[in-house]
Amino acid sequence: MEKSVSILIIYTGGTIGMVNDPVTGTLVPIDFRHISDQVPELQRFGFNLEAVTFDPVIDSSDVSPDTWIRIANTIFEEYDHFDGFVVLHGTDTMSYSASALSFMLTGLEKPVIFTGAQLPIGVLRTDGKENLITAIEIAAACENGLPLVPEVCIYFENKLLRGNRTIKFSSEHFNAFTSPNLPPLAEAGLQIRYNRNLIRYPTVRRPLTVSAGFDTGVAVLRLFPGIGQGVVRSLLRTKGLHGLILETYGTGNAPTLDWFLGEIRSFIAEGGIVLNVTQCPAGNVEMGLYETSAGLRTAGVLSGRDITTEAAVTKMMILLGSSLPKARIETLLSNSLSGEMS
Ligand code: ASP
Repeated sequence: MEKSVSILIIYTGGTIGMVNDPVTGTLVPIDFRHISDQVPELQRFGFNLEAVTFDPVIDSSDVSPDTWIRIANTIFEEYDHFDGFVVLHGTDTMSYSASALSFMLTGLEKPVIFTGAQLPIGVLRTDGKENLITAIEIAAACENGLPLVPEVCIYFENKLLRGNRTIKFSSEHFNAFTSPNLPPLAEAGLQIRYNRNLIRYPTVRRPLTVSAGFDTGVAVLRLFPGIGQGVVRSLLRTKGLHGLILETYGTGNAPTLDWFLGEIRSFIAEGGIVLNVTQCPAGNVEMGLYETSAGLRTAGVLSGRDITTEAAVTKMMILLGSSLPKARIETLLSNSLSGEMS
């Protein structure tokens, strides 16, 4: 008899898993072990669906590297028992978590699909049911016995996006996520249409490994006209700060003021790493295109090209948390590791 498809649902928390408590009337998390009671439609797949629930479940504002390690370890421990994984997660920091997992899981050959909802699954107009059902279908999708999407992705509303390319851009609408620099890997309409030429397939077979070392000594500095020297100086001289994501203007431009470039140079001279990421949701950093970015390049700032801040933060935490030498970390930051840069 043919083995049925097995999918593991990992419920971390967030709006999707909430229902109205019939006694108190408040929103309480559901027990995902009995997910088919809440979403009976799932039985029609004929899959073996199992679920693990974080205890306690967390609002995604409380996500930290420990949460990412927990999700990654669950996938690692259950890797051989399931064909795919669906991670239910609050939307607020889902892009950070999906980015982190894409860097932590090396040798991934199975789908890890994050999803959530803007309205709880227990609410009549919920978007959670469609998100969950389609995320499961994508996690189970195979061709010639191989998974169609062996990547860490976010499925939301009707789009499958590479996780480390996403940003949450709406706190209001059902299409909460966008991927400004990469088209969707799949779109769900009457059929799910996969964009196979964009999906990353493994070229060499390696066993799955988890990188679980993080250095949280990173900061994001978003530039704005009139930014003061005191603020920049105190941030860059913070004890334990090893990496800075500099959110610059346009194609990677920043003030040409002597004090500003001086602070950046000193930070780098002391061993710090600075990655230039644009404030524009879409487009690329091109250092040297304008004089206003040439100084950054000379100071030793690295180009993040079209990486999102969410991916930059998590990538930097993981690379700084490794025992690699600075020059190697700089090379890896300048290159795409999991499809996070074009
Ligand atoms: N605050 C919630 C969270 O991110 C919102 C959501 O689930 O969409 O956990």
